[in-house]
Amino acid sequence: MIFENTLSFARKMDRNDSLKKFRTQFHIPKVKGKTALYFTGNSLGLQPKSTKKFIDQELTDWAKLGVEGHFHAKRPWLSYHKFTKKALAQIVGARPSEVVAMNQLTVNLHLMMVSFYKPTAKRYKLIVESGAFPSDQYAFESQVKFHGLNPDDAIVELKPRDGETKIRTEDIVNTINQHGNTVALVLIGAVQYYTGQFFNIKKITETAHAVGAYAGFDCAHAVGNVELDLHKNNVDFAVWCSYKYLNSGAGGIAGAFVHDRHANNNALPRFAGWWGHHEGERFQMKKGFIPMPGVDGWQLSNFPVLSGAAHLASLEIFQAAGIKNLRKKSILLTGFLESLLNDIDKEGKHFTVFTPKNVKERGCQLSIAVKHDGKKVFTKLTKAGVIADWREPGVIRVAPVPLYNTFEDVFLFSEILKKALAK
Ligand SMILES: *Cc1c(COP(=O)(O)O)cnc(C)c1O
Repeated sequence: MIFENTLSFARKMDRNDSLKKFRTQFHIPKVKGKTALYFTGNSLGLQPKSTKKFIDQELTDWAKLGVEGHFHAKRPWLSYHKFTKKALAQIVGARPSEVVAMNQLTVNLHLMMVSFYKPTAKRYKLIVESGAFPSDQYAFESQVKFHGLNPDDAIVELKPRDGETKIRTEDIVNTINQHGNTVALVLIGAVQYYTGQFFNIKKITETAHAVGAYAGFDCAHAVGNVELDLHKNNVDFAVWCSYKYLNSGAGGIAGAFVHDRHANNNALPRFAGWWGHHEGERFQMKKGFIPMPGVDGWQLSNFPVLSGAAHLASLEIFQAAGIKNLRKKSILLTGFLESLLNDIDKEGKHFTVFTPKNVKERGCQLSIAVKHDGKKVFTKLTKAGVIADWREPGVIRVAPVPLYNTFEDVFLFSEILKKALAK
């Protein structure tokens, strides 16, 4: 696609956008009375207008029915998690039996590591990306210590080469192969939260399996952003949160994927709870945990219906839009942003974009390292109505989200940035 870096081109793209109606289904925040240029869907997705209706339904059913809502609510609470399965399966490329909405992201990361990180004297290494999201780092470190191991020895960090920011797939493959049969688990953020790199899930999983290790992915920044094909790619497990691209509200219910080949493997150790117990006997209150087949067997607690309702509202929109269509638009939208950025700073005096240039290696986010006075530039953007994300020492992350951002948003952002950079 050849982009013209003009407002009229942006508007033409918006007119021809088959997904344009979805923007009207979201509340877009205002800055000083003007609709904001919102580019932080990678941090907190916007609220669908339908969310209120979904939550109100549960409040109404609770008021009217009390405990009977478990059976007689419009969407009976007892099976509420099941209503999310179809959409989640489509979004992450899985079978409905492989996905479940439950807990919070870091909780799910721990639960999955309990099952898939089972170090032995010989096979104990955990291969992760360097600079992983802090919560993930703390989870890795504490899991390793829990098994009585030394994190400095057990955790192997994949790093970019000197002077590079992306981690090359060939380097990941070589590192896994080097550590060979000492590797217990390869666990990577499918899309890196800071650089925006989208890793090669298929290749990483294949390589991990070839040395006899498991492969898991933290899809916090990938779910609803890129196509994951978790089932086809043979991933062992994945986890994600729902408040970023999935627009399900701050601290909303998270999700997990376990591949169906582990569905009936009761030998996998796990931390159990009653919601993971064999459904038909759940209320017999008997001793002896019998897990449900599939990822459902990893559930612990009864379903949080209010945050689940917000989740469902957003999932309905994803089903209507389709992840393939969203990704198609996303590639254009982010490509347009990239083209505009290149135009603003042809010689790279002001900033560098360190997200991979190859569209297959990124989602919608671009990370911009500002060379001078980054914070000042960011403040100017904010004052001009841009909501973006700031990371010390000088990084601005911008995520044009195909569900509700427009080509015009992206164009206007570039104009504001241009002005903010001018002394
Ligand atoms: C957002 C994010 C988290 C946050 O964890 P919560 O348990 O939802 O608070 C963790 N890991 C990654 C990679 C993230 O992007």
